[in-house]
Amino acid sequence: MPANLTEIEEARRLVLERTAPLGPEPVELRQALGRVLAEPVASAAAIPPFDNSAMDGYALRAADTEGASDHAPVRLEVVAESRAGAPAPRGVEPGQAIAISTGALVPDGADAVVRVEDTDGGREAVQIRVAAQPAANLRRAGEDIEPGEVVLTAGTELGPAEIGVLAAADRGRVACARRPRVTVLTTGDELLEPGEPLRPGTIRNSNSYSVGGLVERSGAVLADTEIVADDAEATEAALAKALASDVTIVCGGVSAGEHDHVRPALERLGAEQVFWGVALRPGKPTWFGVAPRNPAGGPGRHLVFGLPGNPVSAMVTFLLFARPAIRAMLGATADAGTRASAILDADYSKQPGRAHLIRVRLELADDGWHATPTGEQGSHLLTSMLGADALAVVPTDAGDVAAGERVEIELLP
Ligand code: AMP
Ligand code: MG
Repeated sequence: MPANLTEIEEARRLVLERTAPLGPEPVELRQALGRVLAEPVASAAAIPPFDNSAMDGYALRAADTEGASDHAPVRLEVVAESRAGAPAPRGVEPGQAIAISTGALVPDGADAVVRVEDTDGGREAVQIRVAAQPAANLRRAGEDIEPGEVVLTAGTELGPAEIGVLAAADRGRVACARRPRVTVLTTGDELLEPGEPLRPGTIRNSNSYSVGGLVERSGAVLADTEIVADDAEATEAALAKALASDVTIVCGGVSAGEHDHVRPALERLGAEQVFWGVALRPGKPTWFGVAPRNPAGGPGRHLVFGLPGNPVSAMVTFLLFARPAIRAMLGATADAGTRASAILDADYSKQPGRAHLIRVRLELADDGWHATPTGEQGSHLLTSMLGADALAVVPTDAGDVAAGERVEIELLP
């Protein structure tokens, strides 16, 4: 491995520099939850589309209710009803009222609504017991969205509120970024799937599931997964096939050991190494490069992330480097790790030379956020990821951290 390691920020920059948004595709609104919008969206019409009532009551002319009170109610003739979806066939003249429901169109001539609770609820005639202010209990057309107003910008991730706004804006279909197709290869003769009988020296292939889960949570499509033997030809064959997708994540086999076949295989396939070795613990052997695409997958460039095999290292390096690339391919704005700070609640011993990422739980106290390590921090201890809210980042040059010191944290998505 090269003696001079790449810093985390520089590695991320090198990744993003080689990452571009994928093209848009039409998506039905029901399928759009969690997708990233690839176009700005404006509503052609005003929302709400017409002046309507905020209350059940009576639409009337505010001037007609002047001086009305419990002791001296005003009597108005009820000439029609305006219901939600069924407007009144006529307007309001002086001395008249129209019974109205919440959301119903305000009839011509009316400039206020009096709540039914402030009347006797009469059907032919109504006793109004309050003086209405003009515009009382009215919801104006365009109060939520003006016609032509852009309500969602390209790059927005569509959650339930965004989906609702799109429906309100009459968009039954929207342009979303195509989701990158990601292949996850896990290398190692020791790997078995859950359910296969263990033999001496074998372990479960957990990375395929943890990293595969991270791929899907990032908004990408998990196109394929495969266990690859520690063998030069098998590694090259699996990688060649994987290069038909948009991104390959290959876990394990990226160190400099005799049985680490990933880098030589990538080299034979024409991949260009961008970096190998990050000033990071866990995750030092991380490799990143760009490879010519397998023509079966269509045009475009292909990114390859060689992640260390240790289960924590694989997850952490995916989050640091591969997730931002996937988000950028989706055209998602505002991503690549939210940084904040917290008070570390434990002593942490550290040698300078590499940044350390500590898995922490966060808790809010009177003096702000506190971070507590999830437990032992070995890169083989996958349970240290359980319940982790953030990674505390102790920078490369730093030494030991004493309990009570403030540390930078990167929130886990
Ligand atoms: P490697 O990076 O291939 O040298 O692997 C480093 C460590 O991670 C070894 O202890 C491997 O057994 C372990 N490991 C590699 N791949 C996986 C995997 N897919 N699931 C669980 N552990 C793995
Ligand atoms: Mg291995």
